[in-house]
Amino acid sequence: MDVHEYQAKELLAKFGVAVARGAVAHTPEQAVYAATELGGSHWAVKAQVHAGGRGKAGGVKLCRTYHDVRKIAEDLLGKRLVTVQTGPEGKLVQRVYIEVADKISREFYLSFVLDRKTERINVIASKHGGMEIEEIAKTNPEEILTLVVEPAFGLQQFQARELAFKLGLNLKQVSRAVQCIMGSYRAFRDLDANLLEINPLVLTEDDRIVALDAKMSFDDNALFRQPAIADMHDPSQEDPREAQAAQHNLNYVGLDGQIGCIVNGAGLAMATMDMIKFAGGSPANFLDVGGGASPERVAAAFRLVLADKNVKAILVNIFAGINRCDWVAQGVVQAYHEVKPEVPLIVRLAGTNVEAGNKIIAESGIPLITATTLADAAKKAVESIKG
Ligand code: ADP
Ligand code: MG
Repeated sequence: MDVHEYQAKELLAKFGVAVARGAVAHTPEQAVYAATELGGSHWAVKAQVHAGGRGKAGGVKLCRTYHDVRKIAEDLLGKRLVTVQTGPEGKLVQRVYIEVADKISREFYLSFVLDRKTERINVIASKHGGMEIEEIAKTNPEEILTLVVEPAFGLQQFQARELAFKLGLNLKQVSRAVQCIMGSYRAFRDLDANLLEINPLVLTEDDRIVALDAKMSFDDNALFRQPAIADMHDPSQEDPREAQAAQHNLNYVGLDGQIGCIVNGAGLAMATMDMIKFAGGSPANFLDVGGGASPERVAAAFRLVLADKNVKAILVNIFAGINRCDWVAQGVVQAYHEVKPEVPLIVRLAGTNVEAGNKIIAESGIPLITATTLADAAKKAVESIKG
C-alpha cells in the first residue's frame, strides 16, 4: 500500500528525519491559509498523488505570493495529474501539500528497499538527486552507492557515516545526514515498509539535511499490525475497479479485452485467459473469486465484471475442489437474477458434484451456454461475441 508524500513525511519526522514545514490543503483557501500559517516568503505547492515525476508534469510549483499559491492550488485540485509514473489516465489530485521552500545547495538520492534475492534491506544513495534512479543507473552507474544491512545487527551508525562521507559531505553535514539515514532506516523497519525513497534529499544553504520528497510503500500483509498506516489508505488513487474488488476480497486486474472472466483460483484464471487468447479472443480481466465463491461473491464478481463497458460476454469457469459445483451453480443462478447481465453467459463447471451443479443450471431456465472443457468454454465465449 502506498501513502502520500505528506503522510510519509509525517511518519519520517517521528523518527527524527528533518523535513520542511508543511501543511496539507483540500481547497485553494486552505492552501493560502496554510502558507500564511507556515510563514516565510517562498512555498512549494505540491500535488498529492501516489506517483512520482510530479515536478516535470507541473505538479510541483514554487510560489512567491499568496496569490500564486491560490492559483496553483486551484489549477491542481480536482484535476487528474499525468506523470511518467501514472499511466495515461493520470491520478486525481484531491489534496495539495504546501511546504516552506528551502534554499537548496545540493540534491542527493536516498532509498531503502527490500532486496528479495539477498533477503536484506539495501540502502541506495547517490550524489545525483532529483532525477529518477533508473536515469542515474544509465548515466552514472558507478555513482550509485549500495549498502547491505545485516539483519542480525541492523544498520550501524558507522555504515551511515561512511555513506554520508561518500556523498561528499563535511563533518557537520555528515552528523545530520547520519541522523536522517538512521531515522529513515528505523521508520522503514518499524513500520513494515517495503520501499522508502527520498528523492531529493537536500543539503540546504544553511547546512541542514532535509528530506524534500518522500515516497513510502508498505507491506499489505503487515497492515494488520500497523493500524495508523492502514488508516492512510486513499482509494481515490487506485483503479476504481480494483478498489471495488478489494472490498469484496476479490483478486481483480482490469485488462482491455471483451470477455469478462469469473474464475476460482489464480492458476485457473491465468489458464482461462490463455485459452481465450488461443481461441482468438481477448480477456477483459483477471478475476479470482477464491475458494469460497458464495452467491454473494459471485454476484459481486458479476457486477464488477459488468462495470467494464468493453465486456461483451462473461465466462464463468469454476473448478470445485474444496467447493461444490451445486453450491456454485446456485450462486450463479442467484447472481444472474440479481445482476441480470445482458451479455452472453458461458458457464463451465468441473469437480465435486458437477452433475448436480449442471442440473441446477439446466433447470434454472436461464439462457446461458454451458461448456464441458476449458477449451470448449473459451471457444464458445469467443463465438458468442461474433454472434
Ligand atoms: P517529484 O519527484 O514527484 O517530481 P519532488 O517532491 O521531488 O516531486 O519535487 C520536484 C522538485 O521540486 C524537487 O526535485 C525539488 O527540486 C523541488 N522541490 C520540491 N519541494 C521543494 C521545497 N519544499 N523547496 C524547494 N524546492 C522543492
Ligand atoms: Mg521526487
